[in-house]
Amino acid sequence: MRATLMYGIGDVRIENVPEPTILKPTDAILRLSATCVCGSDLWPYRGLDGISWPLAMGHEYVGIVEEVGSEVTTIKPGQFVIGSFMPSDNTCEICQAGYPSSCVHGEELGAEGAQAELLRVPLADGTLVATPDVPTADLIPSLLAASDVLGTGWFGAVAAQAGPGKTVVVVGDGAVGLLGILAARQLGADRVIAMSRHEPRQRLAREFGATDIVEERGDAGVERIKELTDGLGAHSVIEAVGTHESMMQAMRSTRPGGHVGFVGVAHGVQLAGMDLFFSQVHLHGGPAPVRRFLPELIDLIWNRDIDPGKVFDLELPLDQVGAGYRAMDQRVAIKTLLRP
Ligand SMILES: [Zn+2]
Repeated sequence: MRATLMYGIGDVRIENVPEPTILKPTDAILRLSATCVCGSDLWPYRGLDGISWPLAMGHEYVGIVEEVGSEVTTIKPGQFVIGSFMPSDNTCEICQAGYPSSCVHGEELGAEGAQAELLRVPLADGTLVATPDVPTADLIPSLLAASDVLGTGWFGAVAAQAGPGKTVVVVGDGAVGLLGILAARQLGADRVIAMSRHEPRQRLAREFGATDIVEERGDAGVERIKELTDGLGAHSVIEAVGTHESMMQAMRSTRPGGHVGFVGVAHGVQLAGMDLFFSQVHLHGGPAPVRRFLPELIDLIWNRDIDPGKVFDLELPLDQVGAGYRAMDQRVAIKTLLRP
């Protein structure tokens, strides 16, 4: 089958690799209907992670179950399913508490990666959620978004305690930040301030429910947020970038007693003790427990209450995955959907 391998900085290729097989009786094999490139895939692409090449790429997926192991009981061949990037049993004490991305029995997705034709998903009963039926083609981008970016933006909004009566700031205008806006509005936030200086992204931010746009960043951005919030800062801030600058911008935009939901994969964030001590903000984040939100998100998408698939502004056949990475790296595209 065809799969995506990264051989070095900026070097993404499609190659023929062996098809995945059931390795454990709790595994399932999916034939992927769609997959995509994640903002976090750009970190190795830009050479900012210590990596041993080649790297199998992709962790976002939707597809049809092709085969299941002998101990899989709820997931059946022929079902259309969505799963998280972090397989989980959905039964351990940590999963039950709402943190399946830290499942005590967690396993890794198949080593072939999800930017491929087929994918092995461990712990199929716990990880995968089937849709009510095989979806029509127009729903597939939104369902794919649920497997990571929507679930991650949603977690950012939940962790930041977005809700009625709250002013929410979103730092980062990538797909996760944009869907954090959608999530904050769905959770009932009165006001959502998007921090973005890119016109097409500002437009999508407004479509997803942003009430204000702030173009400044750093100190000037924090100042502008203070101006918009009676000098106090926001109740809730979603941090969706993961750099030291964005984390500091998020913490400093939050009022004392407020909440920061940080969901950008951290690279080089160094929090100083005194900054933490005097900020008096709640910090919560990390790898999103997407599985917790999937049933609710699938429901909202299935009923066409939300359309998170709008973040995919480039769609390519899997064979052109290299062009998909390039477009995101150069910020020509927000997010690339790939058809295997
Ligand atoms: Zn678990």
